[in-house]
Amino acid sequence: MSRMVGREVRLVSRPVGWPGPENFAVVRTGVPDPGEGQVLVRNRWMSVDPYMRGRMDDGESYIAPFEVGAVLEGHAVGEVVASGAAGVPVGATVSHFAGWREYALLDAADVAVVDVSVARPQDHLHVLGQTGLTAYLAVTEVARVRPGDVVFVSGAAGAVGSLVGQLARRFGAARVVGSAGGAQKARVLTEVFGFDAAVDYRAGGVAEQLAVAAPEGIDVYVDHVGGEHLQAAIGALRPGGRAALVGMISGYSAAEPVPGPSNLYDVVVKHLTLRGLLVTEYYDRLPGYVAQAARWLADGSLRSRETVVEGIARAPEAFLGMLGGANVGKMLVRL
Ligand code: NAP
Repeated sequence: MSRMVGREVRLVSRPVGWPGPENFAVVRTGVPDPGEGQVLVRNRWMSVDPYMRGRMDDGESYIAPFEVGAVLEGHAVGEVVASGAAGVPVGATVSHFAGWREYALLDAADVAVVDVSVARPQDHLHVLGQTGLTAYLAVTEVARVRPGDVVFVSGAAGAVGSLVGQLARRFGAARVVGSAGGAQKARVLTEVFGFDAAVDYRAGGVAEQLAVAAPEGIDVYVDHVGGEHLQAAIGALRPGGRAALVGMISGYSAAEPVPGPSNLYDVVVKHLTLRGLLVTEYYDRLPGYVAQAARWLADGSLRSRETVVEGIARAPEAFLGMLGGANVGKMLVRL
């Protein structure tokens, strides 16, 4: 054990309904030396993501719950500061899954060296990471946007949603409508991310606003929100329409199961396809996607925005803020 001390964030209790700062503790802890085949990483950026809310609960899901009393985890990028692994030298920038801590001890097999000549380290937590891959798959693989489509995206000012809107356009959408909470975010959709029209779901009903923004209906819906948004989209989809179900954040902190859309019979009548996406099923696609997306990022054709919170002590605040809509683009913590 070196004499260095780092901080980490632990889960101290499970929330019922909305989580709060009381569910987390920021704790000082010793920093170990790497053994044979290990690296010590000084994390510089960490991601806070909606799926982490699900991991705070003690339920079965596609990923194990966080343990009470243990450090949290998630994607992070940092620099190798001590190495016992020949292939990952001191000074390398790596991405890995041991976020929520300033120093991470990892087996070299669990880190990926990232090329900082093609993009900034934090891009690997957003456009060039799981977030970007999710957006790309939603558009190209699951909803299969085609030239001329009218596309509706919920959570459109957030990390995945802001990329979905832009990628839908890249793959031929004729009209792209986004939904976000608040007038300022609605403006960001059209002024920054290139959406044709915006729905501000805090200002009125989604179905009514969507009927104005897409009067002939929609061909594709990419869902990040669920609830009222999903119901409105099912109502607006034209015959043969497709929806990629990517997330349903409006229900993640509900204390009781949320009711489903009341108009599911429309799926029959309009022979719609509603298909789920789990990015973890597609990690083998990441290198190919990154090679393309790095070019789009570099030539400015894919716009990336981040909301940055400073310091590990504020990581819980960043996470809770993201759940409540405090971010435009990707919420990141700089460590
Ligand atoms: P994000 O959109 O950057 O941040 C979450 C956003 O959700 C907030 O900014 C907030 O924006 C919105 N929100 C929160 N509560 C809401 C509500 N009740 N109604 C409407 N909007 C609400 O997060 P992200 O990382 O890009 O993730 C977006 C969605 O994709 C989430 O559902 C997530 O679980 C999902 N996801 C799925 C996969 C997968 O593999 N299936 C991978 C990544 C992400 P407003 O201010 O607009 O409300």
